Amino acid sequence: MSFSRLRDALTSTISNLFKAPFVDKRVIEETIRGIQRALLMADVNVHLVLSLSNNIRERALKIKAPPGFSRKEVVLRIIYDELVKLLGGEKAPITDIPLGKGYTLMLVGIQGSGKTTTAAKLAWFYKRKGLKVGLVCADTYRPGAYDQLAQLAKRVGVSIYGAKEANSNDPIDIAIKGVNLFKDKGFDLIIIDTAGRHKDETSLMNEISKLNEIIKPDEVMLVIDATIGQQAKSQAEAFHKVAKVGSIFITKLDGTAKGGGALSAVAATGARVKFIGVGEKVEDIEPFDPPTFVSRLLGMGDIRTLIEKMKEAEISKEISEKVMSRIMSGKFTLLDLYSQFKAIRKMGPLAKLIELLPGFGLGIPKELADVATERIDRWLVIMQSMTKEELENPRIINRSRIERIARGSGTSSKDVKELINYYNIMNRAFKKLLRRGKRLRGLGFPYKFNV
Ligand code: GDP
Ligand code: MG
Repeated sequence: MSFSRLRDALTSTISNLFKAPFVDKRVIEETIRGIQRALLMADVNVHLVLSLSNNIRERALKIKAPPGFSRKEVVLRIIYDELVKLLGGEKAPITDIPLGKGYTLMLVGIQGSGKTTTAAKLAWFYKRKGLKVGLVCADTYRPGAYDQLAQLAKRVGVSIYGAKEANSNDPIDIAIKGVNLFKDKGFDLIIIDTAGRHKDETSLMNEISKLNEIIKPDEVMLVIDATIGQQAKSQAEAFHKVAKVGSIFITKLDGTAKGGGALSAVAATGARVKFIGVGEKVEDIEPFDPPTFVSRLLGMGDIRTLIEKMKEAEISKEISEKVMSRIMSGKFTLLDLYSQFKAIRKMGPLAKLIELLPGFGLGIPKELADVATERIDRWLVIMQSMTKEELENPRIINRSRIERIARGSGTSSKDVKELINYYNIMNRAFKKLLRRGKRLRGLGFPYKFNV
């Protein structure tokens, strides 16, 4: 799973920091070593790691905790800052694409980096935002390139233009005609998928440079495969020479331990990573924002993305916000757990979502996060056999109630106890997180509970 190794390594370093009786030079050095190990394992360039370490050391040794805060919390804040910087810093939100202007976005990148898949992901993403999106297939080199994009376009429900429609085999000809047609039809966004396979790199760069000159796209987006790790830097630089790369899409972050290397290497070139790809399906796209990303890496969750996902799954906004606000006010009941599980079942793999919960790394035991789908289904059945009173006030569930619930749901007392145990641990973890969350918010973390 994406970044789980990096995240585990970082959160264990942070939890060691919090376990230390007090913060002295030795503890700071140990913390830095832990972070170095984690980043090097993720293929982050060694110079970047050293400069980050120096920054943390220099700042951490100097700090005086502001009144009401501990040195540990301030050290955590410094680590957070430096990691955000490493991944590109705080950025203004992704600017919206203007409507009705036929904004052209040209995807470039080497073969196999994920351009065609990414074209469909972007179409899916922007279509959901209400934009009229058209796809242009300007890859005439790879046999089946058109069919691949056409199939994806059908899945997303957007129009496609390619060799067939243009009655031409010249990528430049196709691109011009496609863009003009979609512009005439008043489309908002036109995404051009280009070829990556050429006899040699020079001819690929030539074609991209020519397409760029003739089409004059509003934005050139470079697609980079994360599995190449820190080599992403030289790739970004090579493409930048032939066309001004406006943004970057990093793919396959789900399947590599080198994601941190790719992200930091690209950030070091000054280019902006706009989106990341986290799977093969069209929905596996996420806007990239270093602060929320680092919060997740440090186990501090990302409520904003979680709520977004809930909205995508068309779960009533009321339910998700109600449950969240109950968690945040410390009044989390079995009824909320029930809504949460229902929501999670609609949203897909639990493991991908649970990491969005605040404190996943710092508060909730890992085994609990790995609850399998079958178990959730069983728990949903169990909860259906509970009375409203029991759901709202789980403390009243005694042994005889447990037996009744087990009989009613066709499960065993052991199953019911397991669910209650899970609830109790979650509830305690949430309470602990709330306390920590309040303090961290005081230090300016992007910890907005009232979304
Ligand atoms: P192109 O040659 O640049 O157009 O690349 P494709 O879009 O054909 O993708 C190459 C392979 O990478 C395909 O098997 C895709 O399913 C896969 N792929 C693309 N993006 C992702 C991603 O974010 N995660 C994973 N796991 N696979 C991806
Ligand atoms: Mg392709």
